Amino acid sequence: MTRNFKAELVGCFGQPVAENPTGAMQEAAFAALGLNWRYLTIEVPPSGLAAAIRAVRAFGMRGINLTIPHKVEVMRYLDEVSSDAQVIGAVNTVRVDNEGRLIGENTDGKGFLRGIRQDAGMDPKGKRAVVLGAGGASRAVVTELLLAGVADLLVVNRAIERGESMTRDLAAKTKLPVRFEPWRGTFAVSPETDILVNATSIGLFPDVSAVPPVDLSRTRPDLLVCDAVFNPPETEFLACARQAGLRTLDGLSMLVYQGVIGFQLWTGQNPPEDVMKQALREALGV
Ligand code: NDP
Repeated sequence: MTRNFKAELVGCFGQPVAENPTGAMQEAAFAALGLNWRYLTIEVPPSGLAAAIRAVRAFGMRGINLTIPHKVEVMRYLDEVSSDAQVIGAVNTVRVDNEGRLIGENTDGKGFLRGIRQDAGMDPKGKRAVVLGAGGASRAVVTELLLAGVADLLVVNRAIERGESMTRDLAAKTKLPVRFEPWRGTFAVSPETDILVNATSIGLFPDVSAVPPVDLSRTRPDLLVCDAVFNPPETEFLACARQAGLRTLDGLSMLVYQGVIGFQLWTGQNPPEDVMKQALREALGV
């Protein structure tokens, strides 16, 4: 019998990257399906990105994830960028097609949407959403919420210029309405809001006691409060929302589902989602 000792390779390029837990969930899914695939977590400085992408081609890798600081810069080295990754202006996942071409995708916002639908049981179509923050995570979440047909989308950000330019750009690219409001003092969430998303880095480890300054006293009882921050998974923000009797969705959900979508893009197979969730929880020690 002919044996095949050659593993298929995927991985993640970033800097810093040592604390990125994605490899744990992808490797758990490969093992569960008996696939001889490896996920390599590789520290790549900005000056090494071009060579790293040439290595993806030279090694015949099947795909790659990009994290800070490469999500925007990588686009110039790819053969094609999907339409929604172009709108978002960033790529977090590269897949290699049958001709060996590198295609850029963005699965962050799609992972978030899948969490809303699958874990929170909500269809965002026709809903009114507020997204806190205007960085990379916000761009991905706002784009996918707009494309999913939300009735109203308000972005709230501390830096006015950043928030205004993001909403102007996304409105022009999607031809869909998105509003902006500067974040001054405490932001009062209106009773009309159905979905509230913290897409800032407030509450991220090690600053775990920080909470976005929002007033939740006038919200509707079925408001869904979401956090993009996944370390820790139970942020102080989500704990406050739960204490106020509100429904919550943690950042692990977004992280797992962006990984599930990446797995599908790379292997063409459906991974065991519960195995991936459990591996991620173990990797994060929760
Ligand atoms: P960026 O650095 O691009 O953006 C950070 C955002 O947070 C900006 O809007 C910034 O506002 C805001 N912010 C930071 N500190 C404060 C503060 N003290 N008060 C008000 N606003 C503040 O980060 P990303 O968008 O890449 O990431 C944001 C978070 O999302 C991180 O915690 C990251 O780990 C998480 N994330 C989670 C993913 C998942 O799968 N769960 C995927 C991707 C990211 P300003 O413009 O005013 O500076």
